[in-house]
Formats: sequence, C-alpha cells, structure tokens
Amino acid sequence: MKKDLLAALKENGALLGGHFLLSSGLHSPDYVQCALALKSPARAREYGGALAALWTGARPDAVLSPAMGGLIIGHETAAALGVDFIFAERQEGKLALRRGFSLPRGASVVIVEDVFTTGKSTMETAELAGGLGVKVLGALSMIDRTGGLSFPFPAASLLKLGLTVYSPSDCPLCAAGAPLVKPGSRT
Ligand SMILES: [Zn+2]
Repeated sequence: MKKDLLAALKENGALLGGHFLLSSGLHSPDYVQCALALKSPARAREYGGALAALWTGARPDAVLSPAMGGLIIGHETAAALGVDFIFAERQEGKLALRRGFSLPRGASVVIVEDVFTTGKSTMETAELAGGLGVKVLGALSMIDRTGGLSFPFPAASLLKLGLTVYSPSDCPLCAAGAPLVKPGSRT
C-alpha cells in the first residue's frame, strides 16, 4: 500500500514543487495535494480500508475529521471500520461541529486526516473532542510529514514523507522572489 500510495501521488501530480504557505504559517518548497490521489473513488476506498486495517485499538464510536482535507479519507476509513463519520469545520477560525453533528459525552473517536504536517489540526480536533467529553482513541493519516512528532495518543500513517520548512523571515524562496502560493487556493 505504501508503494501504491507513493505511485498514485506521483501519477496524479499530487507531489507539487514551488513555494508554499503551509497552514502553520511556515513556507515549504513542496506540497502534497492528497485530494488528487483520492479522486478515484475506488482508490479512496482502498486507502480507507488500508487505514482501517492499520488501526489496532478499540473500535471507536465514530471517525472525526477536520474539513476539508479529512473529509474523503475520513469517510472511507469510517466505512471500512463500520462506524459513523462526522467532521469538524472552522467557524470564525475555530474548529467546531456544525450541521447538527454531535457526540455524546463518553463517546470515543479516531481522528482521520489526509496529511499530518505539524500536527496542529490533529491537536485542535482532539481539543474539540476533549471539550465535548469525548475520548480520542488515536489518529490516522494517509501521509505523515511530521518527521517523527508524537501525539498524546496512538497514531499511524500509510506513508512517511520528509518535509522541508522555512520560517517566513528566513526563507530562501522568499529571498529569491518566488511567488508564495497558498495550497487549496490556486493549487
Ligand atoms: Zn518563503
């Protein structure tokens, strides 16, 4: 699956090179646009199945994903686990459950994302769950770019990829005058 995923990312032009603004505010010379590897529903289903197979913990009550990146892979992983899928989205900058989604106190979730980059969105999703009295059993992602960051719960990914980041004040791409692209807006 690891080889398949890397091949699919390459085939679909999902490994982008340039000058990217990450959601963390850092700049990077490359970006993985996971949505391109998920455009085939059959493939998305396979990746969801593979992530569900990676999960060795207790069966959660639901999969919880942050929008937008986690929507497709979270849904497919939940389908493979045979549990509900709900998602959190930003409201005035803060992740929240909307659309009538709710989780009862004491429920358990696994967080599923397309890419772990800094771990920030994963932790924010975990804090949202914690605030609702919901237990986070763990987190899964298709790709791990954290370079070995550990979460306060079990986590697993299908593929590890390195990540080069620069702070905006110390970015050679900025110094070279390369236009900065916010992924998702133009890419
Ligand atoms: Zn830069």
